Amino acid sequence: MTALSLKNIYKSFGAVEVLKDINIEVEEGEFVVFVGPSGCGKSTLLRIIAGLEDATSGEVNIGGNVVNTTPPSKRGIAMVFQSYALYPHLNVRGNMSLALKQEGHSKAEISSRITEASRMLNLEDYLDRYPSELSGGQRQRVAIGRAIVRQPKLFLFDEPLSNLDAALRMNTRLEIANLHQQLGTSIVYVTHDQTEAMTLADKIVVLRAGRVEQIGSPMELYNNPINQFVAGFLGSPS
Ligand code: ADP
Ligand code: MG
Repeated sequence: MTALSLKNIYKSFGAVEVLKDINIEVEEGEFVVFVGPSGCGKSTLLRIIAGLEDATSGEVNIGGNVVNTTPPSKRGIAMVFQSYALYPHLNVRGNMSLALKQEGHSKAEISSRITEASRMLNLEDYLDRYPSELSGGQRQRVAIGRAIVRQPKLFLFDEPLSNLDAALRMNTRLEIANLHQQLGTSIVYVTHDQTEAMTLADKIVVLRAGRVEQIGSPMELYNNPINQFVAGFLGSPS
């Protein structure tokens, strides 16, 4: 089964075309990393998948359904941003339960999902704390927890580690890899960091100036980059 299929996606802001004929498939359970330099269109593409932005043309298909006109909350996705965007007036439990309450789940169901997610993310002791009482790494884990409890079919991550210092970045990267193993859910993960792409991905999509430059496994791209740009970007010897 295909979890996500993007067909001939174009996007313009005014006269500026920022995405050009994007075609990408994500299989069920696959961890796909979109990598490319700043400004190449990664976030815009992710926002189009999430429904936060409309494509100028092309088709977004999630789990077999064309979702171009489906609102974000009905797409079966959950998104984690680089800025944690937690609600400061809600504690960790409150932040994790908000969307579930809006979706109308029972108290028992919400509570059991939060228990499970907080166990996975080592947040069990922090459920009553407020965001201001947490470290950056803990806040990002809450943001990830808030996505997990929704049990999405597809996770979207937009540079989730870029606000963390080097040690925390590695830790959180390993946690995300673990999470993918445990949950088996499809993930689209955006980064400009080659190490993240090479270590996390089943499949890497290299973007350059709004176009797909090459798609392949980390080893395929490392061993057979189609050009100097891909070679330089993924660090294989030239
Ligand atoms: P990335 O995430 O790869 O750094 P973005 O998707 O954020 O790139 O941006 C791609 C291009 O689109 C950039 O040139 C950016 O300035 C432009 N862009 C993004 N969002 C908007 C917007 N809302 N209005 C106009 N231009 C935008
Ligand atoms: Mg971006």
